[in-house]
Amino acid sequence: MTPKPDLQALEKAIAAPRGEFHRDYLQVKDLRVSFDGFVAVDGVDLVVTSGDLRFLIGPNGAGKTTLIDAITGLAKATGSATFGGVELLGMPSHKIVRAAVGRTFQTASVIEELSVLQNLDIAAGMGRKSRELLRRRKIVPTEVELALETIGLTGLVNAPAGVLAHGQKQWLEIGMLLVQDARCLLLDEPVAGMSAIEREQTGELLKRIGEQRTVVVVEHDMEFLRNFANSVTVLHQGKVLAEGTVAEVQADPKVIEVYLGETHAAA
Ligand code: ADP
Ligand code: MG
Repeated sequence: MTPKPDLQALEKAIAAPRGEFHRDYLQVKDLRVSFDGFVAVDGVDLVVTSGDLRFLIGPNGAGKTTLIDAITGLAKATGSATFGGVELLGMPSHKIVRAAVGRTFQTASVIEELSVLQNLDIAAGMGRKSRELLRRRKIVPTEVELALETIGLTGLVNAPAGVLAHGQKQWLEIGMLLVQDARCLLLDEPVAGMSAIEREQTGELLKRIGEQRTVVVVEHDMEFLRNFANSVTVLHQGKVLAEGTVAEVQADPKVIEVYLGETHAAA
């Protein structure tokens, strides 16, 4: 399938009142990543607007993580990836954080020995200039307090991150992006290994943070997708295979063949 322009997104943009839709959208154009001649991401076009909770699915090895790596400066890529009109390709990772783009990893990367608060504080410092860091106070800053509330970890503020449950560590990572003021969040399999309750809570969290941010969630679980995705992009062998609503994508014969077919075969 040739990738279609995201007409729905454009219509939404035109209809939106002034200010609601500004330049807060992720636009990927003809993105390519190759590893020693092996093409992992093969000319991906993608537009994700603020408020659209986009799920990125596809079989193992489809290029989902590599796509996120490319957008966040961890894999060398050609083409273009912009957020808020700022070109991200070629930028060092710390500048990408300042461009309000953040990501999580398949395995949580919180610092286990430090408390929840300390993890958030460090993350907050990364998005800030050193002059502001020097002025840090002893009280919990408002943005950290807000993030704690959003991720539901207020009661565990002084607990070492190492004692958190698996799900809570992923929420802390999301909190770290929130205190960095990330307005574009790329989350790589955030609910992998979570219990059913944790998944549900994570879905609600993603809905909340996605209301005013650009969120891309990599996920395999079809039930989770049906419950929480606003729109879906299917990646296969480094290319966009299909895109649309959950219903559209699920009814697409190509998707059934490569993705659902595989899941069923594996089950
Ligand atoms: P997904 O996240 O969709 O499962 P990945 O993006 O991790 O897929 O991988 C896409 C393809 O690129 C896979 O075939 C993988 O083996 C390959 N790949 C990923 N990272 C590297 C790397 N650093 N060097 C070589 N090949 C890689
Ligand atoms: Mg992956």
